[in-house]
Amino acid sequence: MSIPRQKHFDVIVIGAGPSGMMASFSASESGASVLLLEKKERPGKKLLLTGHGRCNMTNLRIPHNFLEAYHENARFLTSSFHAFPPEEVREFFRSLGVPSHEEDDGRIFPDSQTSASVCDALERALSDAGVKVQYSSPVKYVEKDSHDPEGKSRFLVKTENEEYSSRAVILCTGGKSFPHTGSEGDGYALAVGNGHTVTSLTPALAPILLSSFSDSSLDRREDCGAEFTLAGITLPDVGTYLRIDGKKGKSARGDLLFTHQGVSGPAAMRLSRELPVNTGKYPAGKVQFVIDMLPDLREDQVEEKLLCAMTENPNRHMKRLLCETFHLQEKAAILVLSGETMDLSANEVRKEVRKTIVRNLKASAFDVEKCTPVDIAYVTRGGVNIREISPKTMGSKITEGLFFAGEVMDIDGISGGYNLQHAWASGRAAGKAAAEYV
Ligand SMILES: Cc1cc2nc3c(=O)[nH]c(=O)nc-3n(C[C@H](O)[C@H](O)[C@H](O)COP(=O)(O)OP(=O)(O)OC[C@H]3O[C@@H](n4cnc5c(N)ncnc54)[C@H](O)[C@@H]3O)c2cc1C
Repeated sequence: MSIPRQKHFDVIVIGAGPSGMMASFSASESGASVLLLEKKERPGKKLLLTGHGRCNMTNLRIPHNFLEAYHENARFLTSSFHAFPPEEVREFFRSLGVPSHEEDDGRIFPDSQTSASVCDALERALSDAGVKVQYSSPVKYVEKDSHDPEGKSRFLVKTENEEYSSRAVILCTGGKSFPHTGSEGDGYALAVGNGHTVTSLTPALAPILLSSFSDSSLDRREDCGAEFTLAGITLPDVGTYLRIDGKKGKSARGDLLFTHQGVSGPAAMRLSRELPVNTGKYPAGKVQFVIDMLPDLREDQVEEKLLCAMTENPNRHMKRLLCETFHLQEKAAILVLSGETMDLSANEVRKEVRKTIVRNLKASAFDVEKCTPVDIAYVTRGGVNIREISPKTMGSKITEGLFFAGEVMDIDGISGGYNLQHAWASGRAAGKAAAEYV
């Protein structure tokens, strides 16, 4: 098959998300002619949503919390992060006219406070570097063509209407979460078609869906009147963990938000990747989400503090007493009090009831309904098997000339700028290595 010359490029990058834009820029900067093919009508649709539109672009705590932040596959990132650490990511964007600042927990945001400024800067950089960008071009097919006249292997890359060729291909198609942004999981089939395996695709950084707020000791909605709902309550800096088949599982700490369907916020989302994968509903009591409202106090310390406060304030209403003693919001106090207890004064509370309150403060358990669907997760856990990829170059160990960057690989990080750091660093490594390869 003869391919018109103008349709041949050194490197074809598939997907104009953060990793694809970084890979394209880096390959072009290293001297390669680059075509970037994007399925949607514009680049970075998911990037625009990041950080609630503010773009938490990286995190300065890397590499200190590296192993914890990227879970079981963290070590794969050592080389690419060493080559393009968070400070250099900041410097890179500063050089594109996007200065940034640090917020709590090492999180970095652009001073502009908009992810659009990050996306626009990348788009400008691609244009200045001479990268050819083709929007509304979903790639359907990537095949290594063994019939190159010069004896060099080439890839054939087909979109719906066009056919291109290149010496190297970088697959940057993202995961399969938030599919309306373009990340529908196309890259997995393209990788499999080129000899790769894909690990199980499950949610990471997703809300947790609760069966109901109906743990017998905790359903307060009837007790509290029709207008009371847990939705909208934020519990700052709580401890959380999963209890699976009665055994304590992974734990997290941070802010927790109740929604109409369950719980969200860092203290819930971080645990979502640990939910047993199951297509249906979990049996009652099998998987529980447990909240420790006072993670800095042991249960005996909570009991002692509560007893002391009750003794000193015998006529104080329990709700108010809990709020004052443990600095709880009113709705959080309601969550741990049973209907009858709600209207009691401290001197009316019996020992068993007091013990239940302490237990609820330390371990309020809610049944989880089912594993969160991956399309509503912020990030996809699983992806192209990293054992088949070189961590230094992001190059395939199976198909020479094929490279990967970003979320399409089996890497997921915690919230706080970690997933974008991976997109930038792997994009940079893949772009440079692909240019060197050609
Ligand atoms: C709501 C939300 C908020 C987030 N906030 C943050 C945050 O603040 N900080 C952080 O670090 N991370 C955040 N993340 C995660 C982060 O956005 C992703 O990890 C990151 O975008 C992954 O980058 P990527 O380039 O690998 O993939 P993506 O951003 O998913 O980009 C993939 C691109 O490939 C294109 N594509 C797919 N298939 C094809 C095809 N067949 N042909 C051509 N193009 C194709 C898609 O259209 C898309 O443009 C957030 C995620 C969400 C959903």
